[in-house]
Amino acid sequence: MNSCSHPAPLTDRFGRVHTDLRVSLTDRCNLRCAYCMPAEGLDWLPRPELLTDDEVVRLVRVAVERLGITAVRLTGGEPLLRRGLPGLVARLHALEPAPELSLTTNGVGLERSAAALREAGLDRVNVSLDTLRPERFAEITRRDRLADVLAGLRAARAAGLAPVKVNAVPVHGVNDDEIADLAAFGAEHGYVVRFIESMPLDAQGAWDRDRMVTAEEILHRLGERFDLVPADRRDNAPAEEWRIAGTDAVVGVIASVTRPFCGGCDRVRLTADGQLRTCLFATEESDLRALLRGGADDAALEAAWRSAIGGKGPGHAIGGPDFRRPERPMSAIGG
Ligand code: SAM
Ligand code: SF4
Repeated sequence: MNSCSHPAPLTDRFGRVHTDLRVSLTDRCNLRCAYCMPAEGLDWLPRPELLTDDEVVRLVRVAVERLGITAVRLTGGEPLLRRGLPGLVARLHALEPAPELSLTTNGVGLERSAAALREAGLDRVNVSLDTLRPERFAEITRRDRLADVLAGLRAARAAGLAPVKVNAVPVHGVNDDEIADLAAFGAEHGYVVRFIESMPLDAQGAWDRDRMVTAEEILHRLGERFDLVPADRRDNAPAEEWRIAGTDAVVGVIASVTRPFCGGCDRVRLTADGQLRTCLFATEESDLRALLRGGADDAALEAAWRSAIGGKGPGHAIGGPDFRRPERPMSAIGG
């Protein structure tokens, strides 16, 4: 079935249905998180290679109209660096059927844009925050911007971008002693804090399994301060969630490495330069930008998209003998 209100699902050979599209809007960033990229930054993509707003809207339109995508998350790099972001959000919100729209951001600049983004149709936001200590924030991100991120979080909550989620990547010897503090901070302010196992996706190739804090350890640290009760969870959501007993506060753990959730994966990714990726760890991409710029019609884009999903592998094998790091780092894929 082609373009209609009930498109055929985007199903792979393992029966996984893909409804969640991550769109990277830029590979650039104004922070330099040590687990993500080097202090000097990266060779950013040349501007002509980036999808224009028209091209992003076209591909997302094909995804929602013809492929059954129902949720779109905007990410990067740092998506707030994309000029005219509220205008782009409004155009995506106007698509039919309208996808659920969310944003993953480092929060710098969110104070200024949260209300406009909500107004434009953004539903939710995830803000990355690895520490509550200003000096440590400056060490991890190599920028002294903690106050901006905290202001961004408050602005997101005030704008109704609910639930506001906080993503934290604990690393041994860096911020592993703040796990319970971050959870308490979330509980106090009404943010859902999710702890993410660090993955071998940093641009420097410096990931070290021994420095990764595992889900088991995260839960142990949380359990030292809180009683945790398993929370109801949505299908396919990568975060396992718990409620802090006696409160409404929810904390989550995304155990991408030690408890991979590839079997329920419903995601597909579009890079800022228009490459379709079926997995964070994929080593191959499909060049949708070349098709777009070559004049492909919607049916051809749909076919390319379905064919790429047809080739999706069963999952990543971090730590296994066959594991190969993808060439693109997380910041250029879109986390
Ligand atoms: N700049 C935005 C931000 O930081 O939220 C969006 C892009 S960032 C690549 C998306 C998420 O990936 C962030 O929550 C970040 O903490 C996480 N991330 C980056 N590098 C990672 C790594 N090596 N392992 C696990 N998560 C990582
Ligand atoms: Fe930038 Fe996000 Fe990477 Fe940090 S994790 S350097 S904020 S892209």
